Amino acid sequence: MKVHSQKVTVYAPHFVAKKHIDTWLFDKQEWVAEQLKKQLSIDDTKQYPFESKKISVFSETIYLKLDSGQDSKVTPYDDHLLITISPRVKNTYQKYRQLLETYLKEQLIAYIEMRLAYFCTQMGEELPNDLKIGVYKRKWGSCNSKRELTFNLHLIGAPYHAIDYVIVHELAHLKYLNHSKAFWQRVEAFFPDYKTSSNWLKQNGMSLQWVF
Ligand SMILES: [Zn+2]
Repeated sequence: MKVHSQKVTVYAPHFVAKKHIDTWLFDKQEWVAEQLKKQLSIDDTKQYPFESKKISVFSETIYLKLDSGQDSKVTPYDDHLLITISPRVKNTYQKYRQLLETYLKEQLIAYIEMRLAYFCTQMGEELPNDLKIGVYKRKWGSCNSKRELTFNLHLIGAPYHAIDYVIVHELAHLKYLNHSKAFWQRVEAFFPDYKTSSNWLKQNGMSLQWVF
């Protein structure tokens, strides 16, 4: 594997299936992110490495445009996000990430809060005690006995049905803190097509994990 000019190239024998390379790469993502960051500080952050990069927001492609401006902020447009960074900012890359992450978190929280309220009513549950959004590698959400729910920020790229499924899944854990048959019956009762969404996440989940 070679990491250079903000690109990752993987060399493999021709008989290796792409999905195996993907899995392998998935395990290496921390290392890759580290290399990219390292090279960034060498290359000088003023080059705006993420210019014209695109991400997925609620399953829609959104381009990221970076510019310098009076204030550091994110302005949403129809098909792109304009991220302006003040020239006074020292670490452009860090600021850029922080602005983007905060913006996406707000979008995801707004949607999840709305759907949590809806599904809580449907399921006859009280609202959870706490709701957190974080960046996780191997889970879409979690629920504990203190009725605290977490959701993965990377869900922001998924279609609404997949996010709804994760919400119902975690809400069903308020009653069953396991994956018993009774748990899955509860998921199905309130989200009959849950298998489609769960499969969607299995198949596309990795593409939602951009370097953050
Ligand atoms: Zn679960």
